[in-house]
Amino acid sequence: MAERNRSTLRPSSGAATSADSYLPEHGNGGYRTTHYDLELRYRPDSGRLSGRAVLTALTEQALTDFTLDLGAFRLDRVKVDGIQAARYTHRAGKLRIWPARALRAGSPFTVEVHYVGNPRPIRSHWGDLGWEQLNDGALVAGQPIGAPSWFPCNDHPADKATYRISVTAPSPYTVLANGNLFTRTTHSSTTTWVYEQPTPMASYLATVLISHFETVELAPAPIPQTAAVPARLLTRFRWDFARHSEMMTTFEHFFGPYPFDRYAVVVVDEELEVPVEAQGLSIFGANHIDGRRGFERLVAHELAHQWFGNSLTLAAWRHIWLNEGFACYSEWLWSESSGGRLAADLATQAHASLAAQPRDLRVADPGVRQMFDDRIYLRGALALHALRTTLGSTAFFAVLQEWTATYRHRTVTTEAFIATAQRHTPKPLDELFTTWLHDTQLPELPQPTNWRG
Ligand SMILES: [Zn+2]
Repeated sequence: MAERNRSTLRPSSGAATSADSYLPEHGNGGYRTTHYDLELRYRPDSGRLSGRAVLTALTEQALTDFTLDLGAFRLDRVKVDGIQAARYTHRAGKLRIWPARALRAGSPFTVEVHYVGNPRPIRSHWGDLGWEQLNDGALVAGQPIGAPSWFPCNDHPADKATYRISVTAPSPYTVLANGNLFTRTTHSSTTTWVYEQPTPMASYLATVLISHFETVELAPAPIPQTAAVPARLLTRFRWDFARHSEMMTTFEHFFGPYPFDRYAVVVVDEELEVPVEAQGLSIFGANHIDGRRGFERLVAHELAHQWFGNSLTLAAWRHIWLNEGFACYSEWLWSESSGGRLAADLATQAHASLAAQPRDLRVADPGVRQMFDDRIYLRGALALHALRTTLGSTAFFAVLQEWTATYRHRTVTTEAFIATAQRHTPKPLDELFTTWLHDTQLPELPQPTNWRG
């Protein structure tokens, strides 16, 4: 026994994988991050990025060496606790670092990495992810594994940390990043923008946008809501987003307090296949601004992710329906409360659509390739609608409020949601959740009894 104790205390290598069953190659073992301090310089003409990243972390075991996720950059310097690393290797997206002295279990440490290069996207089942050079600027679309394309990180959603992001770019450009703009300093031809994100954030939700924008105020209070929009789209944008403040109020009523200090909408002058969520910020393409509110559904979807995904973050990727099912159901809630079609009608339509598709997907564990399958969104939303029909609206919204309050800025699992819901009714909910989340067959929609009650 004593022998075993000694061996667990002996420093060893940190795993170059996470415990995630879907994306184990992203994320690392042996430590957790608490803060990222990123200082970046970017040249939009050449696409060159140079960075200094200082991560503050806490060991979970004694470590002789450990890994970070980082794409293809030239490394200039690697330090641990301010001292040159004894050695490092960088291959296949993993930077392995041997500190000059082994790290003790349970102790804080810093790792500093200087890197330079043209960011290359991370290849995935879902296309190229991460830092993307635009015609005139750059954007980051991180979900789910794009973060290492622009900074060294422990790339797993369960490892949430605070951030300071400083970006220096040519002065004509506007730079946006997560959190509050702390300072903006112009030195001759360049400007440095410093943002601070004081609430814990998953690496995939970190973002930077560099382009030319006009600023639009959507609401000054109680939650400041602003937008950055290309000048040519302003008129259409003002109409499309005119109800944004009302949407925020509606969602706070349903889901509880908005979890961050502010919210920013960014429209890039490019076509995006889908909008991109980031913490405290959502990114839309020019194609989502039609001057007819044709994409208001997606505006609601992205705003809802601030609660479901960004404040309450997945403990593992297999719980993805907790993001997408909830965001999809939020689209229906916004429709219903803004004078559009009722959630019940939209549920019936979604049910018919699912009935015509293959029934080979388990919502609570769909498999990595089907994480962003449309059926996760629709059937996840239907599971929530079935819960609302079963509990009644009053108890259903009490579940959502308890859910967002209990797990605010934390990580979540399907099991935790089921336990939360069960506290609001004496009726056993096992069968409801088993049929909707774990079975592949499509259940009938429960008939409303008093679901507005
Ligand atoms: Zn989504």
